[in-house]
Order: sequence, then structure tokens, then C-alpha cells
Amino acid sequence: MRWHAVFCSHCREELPETAYFCLKCGVRSSKGEEAGVSYPWNWEKEVEKTLSTVAEGVKGAFNTVKEGVRKSTNREAVVCSTCGEKNLYDSKFCNKCGKELT
Ligand SMILES: [Zn+2]
Ligand SMILES: [Zn+2]
Repeated sequence: MRWHAVFCSHCREELPETAYFCLKCGVRSSKGEEAGVSYPWNWEKEVEKTLSTVAEGVKGAFNTVKEGVRKSTNREAVVCSTCGEKNLYDSKFCNKCGKELT
């Protein structure tokens, strides 16, 4: 899989060029802003919560995980139950509609 590097303005996660939402924290990307997509949820509060949880829980393993993601982008996709978009396998949020993937 190849894409131009686009980075989340919030958590600096590297996103697929086509992503409207960050697949890690759910913040809308510049692409999403251009497209005028709106948030499906109250992200400001949720993001704070998510990020603090992530920061505490996975900080140590984060780089390892990231490395793993790079090496295994062909793993099974996570299909969004809302819009049917296929997201990278460890995505937390749909990159098209921003819904949390469970
Ligand atoms: Zn992000
Ligand atoms: Zn979706």
C-alpha cells in the first residue's frame, strides 16, 4: 500500500492520503476539512479522554506498535459498520466518517 504522507495535526499519526479522519485519535484531517465532513461525535472531549488513556496505557509500546503497523499494512482491514470503509487493521476510528471502530 502506498500513500503520500499526511500527518494528523493532533497526534502526528501518519494517515493515508484519502483519510478524512485520523485513524488514531479521530481528529479531522486537512482532507476532511476540505471535503467539509463533519464530526460524528463530540471529539474535543473524547479526544482528551482517548489521548490520556493512550498516553498512559500504550506509551511504552507505542513505537513498537507503530513499527509493526508499517510492516503489516496488508493485514486484515477493519470495515466500518457505519459507512463500509475499509480501514487499516488497527484503526481506532474510521478514516472516512470518523466513527469509532469497535
Ligand atoms: Zn490523530
Ligand atoms: Zn465509516
